[in-house]
Amino acid sequence: MKKNNCRMCKSNNMPKFLDLGFSALSDNFLTVEQLGQPEIFYPLTVHSCLDCGLCQLGYVVPPELMFNENYPYDSSTTKTGREHFTKMGVDICNRFNLKPNSFVIDVGSNAGVLLSGFKSKGMRVLGIEPSSKLANTAIKNGIDSIIEFFSKKLVKKILDDYGKVSVITGTNVFAHIDDLDDFMITADSLLVEDGIIVIEAPYLLRLIENLEYDTIYHEHLSYLSVKPMIEFCKKFGFEVFDTEEQTIHGGTLRYFIGRKDNRKVSQNVFNYLKIEDEQEIYSEKKLQDFARSVKDHRRALLQLLYELKTNGKKIVAISAPAKGNTLLNYCKIDSEILDYVTERNPLKVGKFTPGMHIPVYSDEKLEDQPDYALILAWNFADEIIQNNSKYSEKGGKFIIPIPKPVIV
Ligand SMILES: [Zn+2]
Repeated sequence: MKKNNCRMCKSNNMPKFLDLGFSALSDNFLTVEQLGQPEIFYPLTVHSCLDCGLCQLGYVVPPELMFNENYPYDSSTTKTGREHFTKMGVDICNRFNLKPNSFVIDVGSNAGVLLSGFKSKGMRVLGIEPSSKLANTAIKNGIDSIIEFFSKKLVKKILDDYGKVSVITGTNVFAHIDDLDDFMITADSLLVEDGIIVIEAPYLLRLIENLEYDTIYHEHLSYLSVKPMIEFCKKFGFEVFDTEEQTIHGGTLRYFIGRKDNRKVSQNVFNYLKIEDEQEIYSEKKLQDFARSVKDHRRALLQLLYELKTNGKKIVAISAPAKGNTLLNYCKIDSEILDYVTERNPLKVGKFTPGMHIPVYSDEKLEDQPDYALILAWNFADEIIQNNSKYSEKGGKFIIPIPKPVIV
């Protein structure tokens, strides 16, 4: 479905600034049988709202096509991810002095890693997760979960069964939701008077600064930043009272949101507004410059890969995150360039990457010692390089593609 108006302020003043062509769904890894069948490619364009500043995709894929029992993203796959989310739960309990037995909901709770942090501090927890596979993993690990999308339809059930909520968290999910008004209305009905919402999402400022265009894919409907978030929260009687930057996923911003005038607004919020203003991330010129750099990046990466191929080198990719598929699809890097991709998530192994159809093997495949390994999950490059020290000891080299292709 084409999206013509701004999800936050409803403005129609939304010119397109980036066109990544047509792309298959980034998490839709294919089985051998599916390779012989037609595959749907959706437009992947980004527009910016000239009124509030929100950046969003020009085309919305129905969520049930992406977040279903086949959804393979598991935030507990990497050590960095596990540590980050467990710590986040503990940090929030400490900072807000949550009383034991306070009730916490995580929206898009995945395999329950974040909630396990809250649980370890004595909180009552509930995950809301539409992907049954992930929710069932969470349940198996003792994290109560409802297999559903978060929406007003759940309010009565949650209030009846559990009572009012002290904290609602949403990490890498707020930007996945088309109807954000519904999210805020639902949160408003569930939260206690001084309850808080903690949102974590990739930060538009870093996306632009570090040329992280591969983090643009159909699951990520919005590219959030502080200015539009502030305006949006006001509409529902809420305000952003603090912002905190996290290094995970190449630059993520954590937004602390509470009811208006409930808490003092931190200087951090004003500082980020100032940086956004100085970096001109809401100017059309800046966004067009970004789009030009994206094209230049594609040329540079392809040049490097083709040069290596011409010299008879064998190249593979390590890790098959959703973002990798934006990169592969946009740059048209297929199995003529990359022999295979390795990945530790068993839901992807044995399948083929969406769009480019590169076979996915488990991590051990790297033992056949290719010359170069392109790190698609560049945000976990340190961890990946460490885990594959045997490969590099035998002379294998890594290519980190973003922000500038480099060989290490
Ligand atoms: Zn807007």
